[in-house]
Amino acid sequence: MRKDDSYPPPESGSSVSPDRPWFTRRSTLVVGVAALAPACLAGWVLTQVLSGSEPDGQQPRPLPASHSSLSPGGWDAKPGSTPSDSPSGSPSTDASSPAAAPVPAPAPAKGRLAGKTVVVDPGHNTGNFKHTDEIDQQVDIGTGHKECDTTGTTTNSGYMEAEFTYDVSLRLRAALEAQGAKVVLTHQQDRPWGPCITERARIGNEANADAVVSVHADGVSAGSRGFHVILPAKVKGGAADTAKIVGPSRELGERIAGNFARTTGSAPANYLGSGTGLVVRDDLGGLNLSTRPKVFIECGNMRDAKDAAQLTSPEWRQKAAQGIADGIVGFLGG
Ligand code: ZN
Repeated sequence: MRKDDSYPPPESGSSVSPDRPWFTRRSTLVVGVAALAPACLAGWVLTQVLSGSEPDGQQPRPLPASHSSLSPGGWDAKPGSTPSDSPSGSPSTDASSPAAAPVPAPAPAKGRLAGKTVVVDPGHNTGNFKHTDEIDQQVDIGTGHKECDTTGTTTNSGYMEAEFTYDVSLRLRAALEAQGAKVVLTHQQDRPWGPCITERARIGNEANADAVVSVHADGVSAGSRGFHVILPAKVKGGAADTAKIVGPSRELGERIAGNFARTTGSAPANYLGSGTGLVVRDDLGGLNLSTRPKVFIECGNMRDAKDAAQLTSPEWRQKAAQGIADGIVGFLGG
């Protein structure tokens, strides 16, 4: 597994890179980060931001194992895994349960996201592994064909990525609604499998979403740690044409990455993205078919014990959701 190796320690990165970092366009964000975060974390965030080079057109190789590394046996090894018996004691995916996510306050008439629509896409579905024939169907993503959906990964102890993504998505919805946004989920664990990636994209398009975020966690080798945000590449083919969303999606992704690092204390991935926490991919149907600003976030590596300890923590998931929400507010609310 490729590693870019470690990011520099906080104390090593006080100098400003001459490269064009995204923070230079966002002095207010930097000030905000510096004001809000502990000095060490702020220093660390800036280190990460400044040290990352993200030349245009950079196309880090997609993680081949990102969503396909889980062998069917992986699920067999964890029979009976259900939201209610997850090893972390994590909240049920029952949307009505207060433990699943904070109960959103009634959406205020006004808020920084009043009038905005955000589509939140909980990656995968806890039922996908029982419906492999359906999710293995090939669908047209414009630039080619891919499986309708994938099972997602798990932690070594069996906490499913689909449980994680749904829980974070509920928390994210609550945070966004508290800011006055209209939030649409692509699914609510109310269907046996899917939806297909084509439908996930279509939901965002038909909602005329101002921003779309697909929530995931990665499944790569132990030792690979940290989060990354996946941005759409410029692609054109069939129904896919991302020319208009590449720019705004990058800004959305940068906002989310910076805020996610701040709220969670997590570092950008050490195995791709050159320490920036940003990766461009041209092979994801959910991005290729989107006509609205959209990113994926891989919140951590479920196969790494240290990352898994965070991903299975409800408290950490709340921080993760808040970071994503703050990034969206920064993108949409100014
Ligand atoms: Zn995933």
